[in-house]
Amino acid sequence: MLLECIECKAQYPDTEIIYTCQRCGGLLDVIYDYSKIDLRVQKLKQPPSVWKYASLLPIKMEPVTLKEGGTPLYKCDRLAKKIGIHELYVKNEGLNPTGSFKDRGMTVGVSKAIELGMKTVACASTGNTSASLAIYAAKAGISAVVLLPEGKVAMGKVAQALMHGAKVITIRGNFDDAFRLVRELCEQREFYLLNSINPFRLEGQKTIGFEIIDQLGWKSPDRVVLPVGNAGNISAIYKGFSEFKRFDIIDEIPRMTGIQSEGACPIFNAFSKGARKIVPEKHPETIASAIRIGDPVNAPKALLAIYDSGGLAEKVSDDEIIDAQKSLARLEGIGVEPASAASIAGLTKLREKGVIQPDERVVCITTGHLLKDPEEVIGVCGKPMVVEADIEAIRAVISNEDSVEYLGAVLQSVR
Ligand SMILES: *Cc1c(COP(=O)(O)O)cnc(C)c1O
Ligand SMILES: [Zn+2]
Repeated sequence: MLLECIECKAQYPDTEIIYTCQRCGGLLDVIYDYSKIDLRVQKLKQPPSVWKYASLLPIKMEPVTLKEGGTPLYKCDRLAKKIGIHELYVKNEGLNPTGSFKDRGMTVGVSKAIELGMKTVACASTGNTSASLAIYAAKAGISAVVLLPEGKVAMGKVAQALMHGAKVITIRGNFDDAFRLVRELCEQREFYLLNSINPFRLEGQKTIGFEIIDQLGWKSPDRVVLPVGNAGNISAIYKGFSEFKRFDIIDEIPRMTGIQSEGACPIFNAFSKGARKIVPEKHPETIASAIRIGDPVNAPKALLAIYDSGGLAEKVSDDEIIDAQKSLARLEGIGVEPASAASIAGLTKLREKGVIQPDERVVCITTGHLLKDPEEVIGVCGKPMVVEADIEAIRAVISNEDSVEYLGAVLQSVR
């Protein structure tokens, strides 16, 4: 196993603590000797999980695990009908240990930290990365330091990082500032950096791709749609699909379709121009705090994934995100945080534009759980009403209650 620069192809041993190419500054990728890997055993009965695919993961020791992955892939017929697509699935990553897909990356990343003998792990985070880092550091018995942008992190995520014992520092700046600072800190203090610039972390996240194929009976969907923030996940999942193609498990790589918020869409803008480089945005803003990122570090990998798979990028408004979040919750019983709903909002928009055809088999990835951001829910749904403890008072409000009407309208649209 080696680390290789995606730009100049310089190679480094996997024992070296580096995050980018020392020659050109390019992103690194983990390269395996595929001729030595036998994947056939994976096809056996074992249920999906991150460590089911250990032969394609960069860890030799017993991993630090809390049983991540193996999330459900739901067939969503009612939502499909509303959107106008025949076959729609949702891969619900909110059902990981901390409630986001970051756990897949962190079980591998923290295991790597232990292999490398590191005593402290660190990250900048819009929230979920910090929650995830905190639980694996706790499980491994090492320290975690996390830098959060002030006032921009959903309550549930901060609660997790605090309770699991991470050192939580809020900075007066945005995510991109926090990331720049944590990189500096890691260089000075021998902390191990576990943002998605870390190529080992992304190896864990590629198992989302493996599981989708596994759960569809070893067949690939036509398209995978997901939210894009720092752009690590779309790159990782594309790598997972590429590896399964290399092993002839699938013939085609699904079209990787990345969705961003209008207020934070540098990847979308680059894609629209056919560019391979992004122009960073100074003041990213969106209700979807997990993708409120103006300078995504993995942009080169993500654009490669989009172009090479024949995919695309789209942007959606906060209102479209909230509508999608409600539809998913009310038609399918799947509760997600706003960033996750961007995938559904993006699919809806692309279907309306006629870019995506009704006969495509589509998998949307919902990245984080509804309970991560309860304040957003109260903000868009309103507080529950309060009435006297009296049956007449209750009857009076039920007859003209908003959510009943809303549900009626939604149901009408799918009948
Ligand atoms: C981290 C995160 C994203 C963005 O993933 P990237 O790899 O940064 O593109 C999207 N949704 C949720 C809920 C996240 O936690
Ligand atoms: Zn290089």
